[in-house]
Amino acid sequence: MIFYKLSEDLRDEIKHLRASGKRIGFVPTMGALHQGHVSLIQASASICDVTVCSIFVNPSQFNNAEDLKHYPRTLANDLELLAGFKNILVYAPDEVSDVYKTDEDFAIELGNIGKVMEASFRPGHFNGVMNVVKRLFDIVTPDMAFFGQKDFQQCLVVKELIRHYGLPVQLQICPIAREEDGLAMSSRNVRLLPAERAIAPAIFKALLHAKEQVARLSPDEVKKQVLNELKAYPELLPEYIEISETENLLPVESWNDARNIVACITVKLGAVRLIDNIILK
Ligand code: AMP
Repeated sequence: MIFYKLSEDLRDEIKHLRASGKRIGFVPTMGALHQGHVSLIQASASICDVTVCSIFVNPSQFNNAEDLKHYPRTLANDLELLAGFKNILVYAPDEVSDVYKTDEDFAIELGNIGKVMEASFRPGHFNGVMNVVKRLFDIVTPDMAFFGQKDFQQCLVVKELIRHYGLPVQLQICPIAREEDGLAMSSRNVRLLPAERAIAPAIFKALLHAKEQVARLSPDEVKKQVLNELKAYPELLPEYIEISETENLLPVESWNDARNIVACITVKLGAVRLIDNIILK
């Protein structure tokens, strides 16, 4: 593992690696690493010669100042975890300005994807995501980039960003890593109080039950069933559940409306927003 604080130093190293024909995989993260992040790194390591993992809490994608303030930062632990990997370059800048060298705006028009679900509940969030991902792609110049299905809408945003700018990056979407009780792993889970942590798995359970009902109920009925099930826990405050086409997140009214269909949910629990999803078709 080699650790870089400065993008210029990382760029120099990548230039050398490229000159010797190495294939570069990229795993962007905000740190507080967990097994979900590790699974992305392993996916990259299995296909690429060198993996770059960035650890950067990107202020521009936080629409909530409290969330940014309390976002877990565990760089020493993260570096210890990554020290066990071969052929990995870690980029963890001290300064936001090392990533944001100019104030150019790389956000693009996203159509429906930029209007629904996370875009609607977190105004400006995806503009921040697009700006950081474009800048990090320009620094790392990866052949492949590994993102988690956990952030389903974000994957579609990155796909659109790559298409719009014609970037030579292959996007790989990796499965959701879960705790044993089904809760989707997330850096924010450490902020759940013990009583909250105990009920959080109800979210994935409700999604699994939704999947079981696909043959029997309409999409609208399935959504209602999920919300009903979650009502058993007054602490769980659903922001939305949507059943949508995987390509463009347009809502479906019938299972025949699209070839591939996903259920996406966000639930507030205490100070934390928990997001999860499941492919229904
Ligand atoms: P974050 O550090 O939360 O910004 O996440 C960095 C990357 O890890 C993103 O591509 C996420 O989608 C992915 N990721 C986060 N949690 C998980 C998970 N439980 N399983 C798989 N990938 C994840």
